[in-house]
Amino acid sequence: MGEQDDVEERFRRLVAEMEPGSSPPLPKASRASMREVKREARQRKKAAARPPQPPAPHRAYLEAVSDLPGRGARRRTRRPRPARLHSERVRTISIGVAVLAIMASVIYFQWFRAATSTAVADPTVPSSDSAPTPGVGEANEPLGNPPVVEDQPGRYSFVATQAGSTAPVAYDPCRPIHYVVRTANAPRQASSLLSSAFATLSAATGMTFVDDGPTTEIPTGQREPYQPSRYGDRWAPVLLGWATPQENPGLADDVIGLAGSASRSVPGGPRVFVSGEAAFDVAWFRRSLTTAGGRAEAEAVVLHELGHVLGLGHVADASQVMFAMERPKVTTYGVGDLAGLARLGGGACEPRL
Ligand SMILES: [Zn+2]
Repeated sequence: MGEQDDVEERFRRLVAEMEPGSSPPLPKASRASMREVKREARQRKKAAARPPQPPAPHRAYLEAVSDLPGRGARRRTRRPRPARLHSERVRTISIGVAVLAIMASVIYFQWFRAATSTAVADPTVPSSDSAPTPGVGEANEPLGNPPVVEDQPGRYSFVATQAGSTAPVAYDPCRPIHYVVRTANAPRQASSLLSSAFATLSAATGMTFVDDGPTTEIPTGQREPYQPSRYGDRWAPVLLGWATPQENPGLADDVIGLAGSASRSVPGGPRVFVSGEAAFDVAWFRRSLTTAGGRAEAEAVVLHELGHVLGLGHVADASQVMFAMERPKVTTYGVGDLAGLARLGGGACEPRL
């Protein structure tokens, strides 16, 4: 309990620093070790040195974390080795809320760089440098239908919605979602982890996923959705890969995965995801996949990140995979996740992209 109190105290302190006047009163002095305090100071310094980030994802993360009752962290601290690694992560994440909010370095993070682009392909104009020939792979109707599930308002969220509507930005269900996997740094279990996750996603969305094989491309978070020299005249397949913090700085500190998708639209048409990317932390997966129960946790992280790729955002409900922090006991999509995925499977077909 002592450790948990400590974590919560620092959480409140950090939030108070961020939002003066709107936070719970500060309890008195921390019992944190000097090492932790120094670490916090280093993180803050680092955060202060970074440029300001777009506000939306931070707020979403803060909301999710603000609701944290600390249960997950407490449960984790009870786990035997090597779970200590997890507890450290969780503790750092709990105490580092304000820091994370500033530097956007959440345990799971969606990047929006490409998604905020407004570049569009005019349907009357042949493909340009920034877009392939429209309609590659497009069928006349959706390739499958999402299952009918009970809606679970508040238990799922979307990364983005259509202008003036609550309808999500989603992939085009009339064409398969192709993906490539970076083989370098991938764990031995990569292929089974991914095929199992895509089977789950296919059932949850009605969408079709196609494995286009290996790639040498590194998921850096700075990816162009159209790369004709590498992938030909089509939107680049979704890139999935394991990377180190050196290869993808977004994976530094406590981040174990990052994912997002890029959207495009034509004038008057819906915004549609055209390509995406997910990066998984090499070290975390190596550790997890060699521990008892770690395989299930690794699967959950893959499901979480692929949920982001398809368009799910974070939720405050800690029983859902799309909760912002990895929780060892939540290893399969919950009813909220599944309700969100079903809606994402019912997106608009857009042959003009
Ligand atoms: Zn996430």
